[in-house]
Amino acid sequence: MTAQKTLSDLAVALLDGSVRVVDCAAPLGPNTPLLKLPPELAVDTPKIEIHEIARYNETGPWWAWNWLKLGEHSGTHFDAPQHWITGKDYPDGTTDTIDPQAFVAPANVIDCSREAAENNDFLLTADGVKAWEAEYGEIGEGEWVLMRTDWDQYNTDEDKFLNTDATGPHTPGVTADCVEYLMEKNVLGFGTQCIGTDAGMAATFDLPFPAHNLLHKNNRYGLASLTNLDKLPPKGAIFIANPLKIVRGTGSPVRALALVPAS
Ligand code: MN
Repeated sequence: MTAQKTLSDLAVALLDGSVRVVDCAAPLGPNTPLLKLPPELAVDTPKIEIHEIARYNETGPWWAWNWLKLGEHSGTHFDAPQHWITGKDYPDGTTDTIDPQAFVAPANVIDCSREAAENNDFLLTADGVKAWEAEYGEIGEGEWVLMRTDWDQYNTDEDKFLNTDATGPHTPGVTADCVEYLMEKNVLGFGTQCIGTDAGMAATFDLPFPAHNLLHKNNRYGLASLTNLDKLPPKGAIFIANPLKIVRGTGSPVRALALVPAS
């Protein structure tokens, strides 16, 4: 009965506008910024292509539709545990096997926008998360932790978004001790506004790519290229991030959404 009341209250709030839906996804198309790996490492994910099949013409007189070519890890997207070698053995570690209960969860939004602007290589640490908790309240089990950097302002400019120079890409992220702390708290996963869950320089860390390594080792999830986190409260938003049910998928673009109280 209580849950029924909660849902009926939510239904009213959605319809009367006292709960707003914030779009936390970037446009997905040929101009979407994509990860560039060092040439010695591997093959890059291909540019997104949208091909017209028909548009009310001879190939489809009454309809319009396209077909797409895109990598799983394109634009605003979800990282499943089997994306990383540390998570490769989880039977529920692919986009088609994850419990859908994980796709709707509370969000903690840690504002690092000032630090990231001052230092593009800024890393959120366990102490940084603890300081945030002292101010806003403890992060709970099963909740998202989202790192706000306002990096989405660069989403339409791949060069600025990737911020690469002769030494490599310079974008903010997390330390290994930060992810270890989040894993101790048994959070649902970690999300970022940058191209991937790890910092630009993460290939050079003592534990390379700590977010990927440790999140997926623990059967947890990642979110990348999120937008509009500046429109979310530090606590209180409900985050919806559901990957496409790609068979054995390692990730998927998502139309990430946040339910927030109207201001
Ligand atoms: Mn990814």
